[in-house]
Amino acid sequence: MLRLTVSVRCFVVFAALQAVAFTGVAAHAQTTAPAAKELRVPELRVFDPSLIDKSTDPCDNFYKYSCNGWFKRNPLPADQTSYGRFTELYELNRLHLKQILEQAAAPAATRTANEHPRSENEQKIGDEYSSCMDTATVNKLGIAPLQPELDRIAAIKSVAQLPALLSHLHAIGVNAFFMLYASPDFADAGTMVSYYAAGGLGLPERDYYTRTDAKSVEQRQQYVAHVRKIFMLAGEPEAQAAKNADTVLALETRLAKASLTITEQRDPQNLNHPTDVASFSKELAHFPMADYAAAAHAPTAGRMNDAEPKFFAEFNTLVADTPIGEIKTYLRWHLLHAYAGTSLPESFDQETWNFYAHTLNGAEKQQERWKRCTSRVDRELGEALGQVYVAKYFPPAAKQRALDMTLAIEQAMGKDIDALDWMSPATKVMAKDKLHTVMNKIGYPDKWRDYTKLEIVPGDALGNQMRAREFETARDLAKIGKPVDKGEWEMTPPTVNAYYEPQQNNVNFPAGYFQPPFFSDKEDDAANYGDMGSTVGHELTHGFDDEGRQFDKDGNLKNWWTKEDEDKFNARADCEVKQYDAIEAVPGVHLNGKLTLGENLADLGGLWLAWLAWLDKAQAAHIDMAAATDGYTPDQRFWIAYAQQWCTQTRPEQLRTQAQTDPHAPDEYRTNTVLTDLPEFAKSFSCKKTAPMVAPTPCRVW
Ligand SMILES: [Zn+2]
Repeated sequence: MLRLTVSVRCFVVFAALQAVAFTGVAAHAQTTAPAAKELRVPELRVFDPSLIDKSTDPCDNFYKYSCNGWFKRNPLPADQTSYGRFTELYELNRLHLKQILEQAAAPAATRTANEHPRSENEQKIGDEYSSCMDTATVNKLGIAPLQPELDRIAAIKSVAQLPALLSHLHAIGVNAFFMLYASPDFADAGTMVSYYAAGGLGLPERDYYTRTDAKSVEQRQQYVAHVRKIFMLAGEPEAQAAKNADTVLALETRLAKASLTITEQRDPQNLNHPTDVASFSKELAHFPMADYAAAAHAPTAGRMNDAEPKFFAEFNTLVADTPIGEIKTYLRWHLLHAYAGTSLPESFDQETWNFYAHTLNGAEKQQERWKRCTSRVDRELGEALGQVYVAKYFPPAAKQRALDMTLAIEQAMGKDIDALDWMSPATKVMAKDKLHTVMNKIGYPDKWRDYTKLEIVPGDALGNQMRAREFETARDLAKIGKPVDKGEWEMTPPTVNAYYEPQQNNVNFPAGYFQPPFFSDKEDDAANYGDMGSTVGHELTHGFDDEGRQFDKDGNLKNWWTKEDEDKFNARADCEVKQYDAIEAVPGVHLNGKLTLGENLADLGGLWLAWLAWLDKAQAAHIDMAAATDGYTPDQRFWIAYAQQWCTQTRPEQLRTQAQTDPHAPDEYRTNTVLTDLPEFAKSFSCKKTAPMVAPTPCRVW
């Protein structure tokens, strides 16, 4: 299910960095964060004329024209691998979360008379935060809290014991071999089934194991060196650790070669292999999956999906022909890797940061501990923390404004579908039916997650993390066989992001996003529609991109297109594939037009919908389209606000990772390439037909 969620801003790389951002605390690490007031918060604007570079021709490079002022003002911080307007707001939100957490963490003795006693949720988020900040205890305990788990792996003697062991490791968040989670049935989106997916890799994705260029070979060597160092930190002699690191790479390479590429994974048809647990178990002769399911407290019978049959066939062979000692080495690595952040001593923390954040993505400095601990609580207890967050920072009026904008964009999409010259009336009826069924989720869940059963203990960073992961796994697997709960959220309320869920046909906009520099009630519709409006349109368009269009209004994987319309859609989409394939992100690495197609379609369609909705608004409000504010007409401010949301500086290492793994194009192209396809933009700035910001043959689907 997670794999099919499409967001406005993929934090795949970012999330991975956050996971390892729990790294590298200096020996003298402070256990109290700097007071919030020490951090200066700049005033953030949606349309900011002071960022514009008038020495650049807007028809030449609109991104530079709109963002050069921001680039000058915002040098890339040493602890970031990329820094843009999303990070600006993300850091501001994190500051707000820190204040909430510090208050929740304050011991009873220091609470003033008018502060109420801590609620159950406040106890959990406060104690989780303070145990994460307590580096002295984490360092003192060393690897001891993980020893029972290491012993558990050491104790197994044969593959027959593997199903039970693996179900336990999966429960505590160890990504070994494969994954099991609850996901809506492809054919019956109202019901949750078991979803068995490929997993088990330590590098960002499968092609890192197969590419043969010099840089990729070097990265694999650096990865092996990293695994070796982690084994050594866990107490292995160097020669043994080196041999074990080679074993890890060899086993992971086998798994990688049997896995789908990230581009292949984008087509739901490639993942749709319905079966039942009993047959699946029978097929895997060397690994009784029914035993695994029983140990995991998941159904041992009934419908399920085998996302990657080729992968599971290879896994089955691998467990049969690999010595048990090598399998145990592989499992030990993934256990250490899963906890080598804020839960283990700084040596693990530092080494993990060094490989994932520095080597792969170019970060120069680790993020401060309080930042990593705040993000950790957001991940583990997101709705307990989020509940306090929205009460403080997301008033009901903000929710209403967000909803109004969403409805206006949906109305624009209805008109747009009516006006399409390439789609037949029959498919239009189906498309509008799907559009009118979209559910809008704004801000936060109506029903908050109940953490009562999760035990959080002061001073037990590793235990808390393990219990939080076990709690989440159990919560997820308990959904199998039950009706889908469409009210559930996959992002926490303070998140600066949004997503469309194709199997539920709903758009989700977390509270954390509806703030400057993306949305402001102090600014006019031209700015807000150009910026947040384009995001709302983006998420909505995901329901009709190359992936989303394969799902019907109820979220079932079911074709509702006529053959002729489908061919026309594909031909139009192909125009965008070629457009992005031609872009060289870093020397020698081109963007992947097929991998980024869904996001590119959503960017172009979304901006177009925002434009249409805004024109309607402007007309209804009798806006004088020739009247300039700050020296710019309303339509010019619309386009500049769009571009300014993407102002971002990125390290070349991260740009390479992004081009190779991220379904989103880098921000420069999300601005310029999209705008070259819109003649309305060229008209607003009187660009000549031959200008770089005008595509000779513009692409357009929606
Ligand atoms: Zn998206």
